[in-house]
Amino acid sequence: MEAIDFEALETALRRCTLQLAARLLDQQFNRDHSDYQGSSLPCACGRRARYVERRWKGFHSVVGELKLERAYYYCWECERGFCPRDRTLGMDATSFSPAVVRMIGTVGAMVSFQESSDLLTELAGVAVDAKQVERTAEGLGKEIAENERVHTEPLDAFPLPQTLHLGMDGTGRPRAGASAERHARVVLGDGAVWIWNIADDPFVGCHADRRPLSRQATLERSRKSSLRSHQPTNCSVGRTPERRTR
Ligand SMILES: [Zn+2]
Repeated sequence: MEAIDFEALETALRRCTLQLAARLLDQQFNRDHSDYQGSSLPCACGRRARYVERRWKGFHSVVGELKLERAYYYCWECERGFCPRDRTLGMDATSFSPAVVRMIGTVGAMVSFQESSDLLTELAGVAVDAKQVERTAEGLGKEIAENERVHTEPLDAFPLPQTLHLGMDGTGRPRAGASAERHARVVLGDGAVWIWNIADDPFVGCHADRRPLSRQATLERSRKSSLRSHQPTNCSVGRTPERRTR
């Protein structure tokens, strides 16, 4: 067999296959008018929204761009419109398909928004700019927080331990609630200087220690430190002795 650029071949085949799949999806959905459910539908405001027309909208999916025609209803009372099909497909508040949203959530939780955008384009062929990654990831975060708020027991329902271990990393840092003020706190960093520099923002009066420690050693040192001091708001690892710089 002659030498061929197999990477170019497989990349081109994937692109063509996905384009074909997108067209098939387009046709399948746009032929189906079952999302028209009569001249009016109940609106979230309690009134009735009236059918207006079928409207087009572009969506980003894992097989490419989709242009879908959906039945559009408009409520003159609350002046809002909606498409029942968007709700059915899980795309009523976004132009991304559920699979794309899942991809964004996965990469957005691991790398920066810009890197996420680059990875989605490079690996999945889905063009999502960094700002869209940010908005979608933050939307997912709010959904998760709300879900946890509804479905998990409040912390106040359990007695707090004497020492709270709080992890800090590049994606955020925890805030101490009022109920945690009575307890010793230990901040675990991964050795990055910036973590140590900001560790005392939420924990004023942290013990100064800049020596690199393993996670286990950090835990042990912190445990001993807090046991010795018996200071209720003491925490170890974090504050630098000199003035902090960012
Ligand atoms: Zn309404």
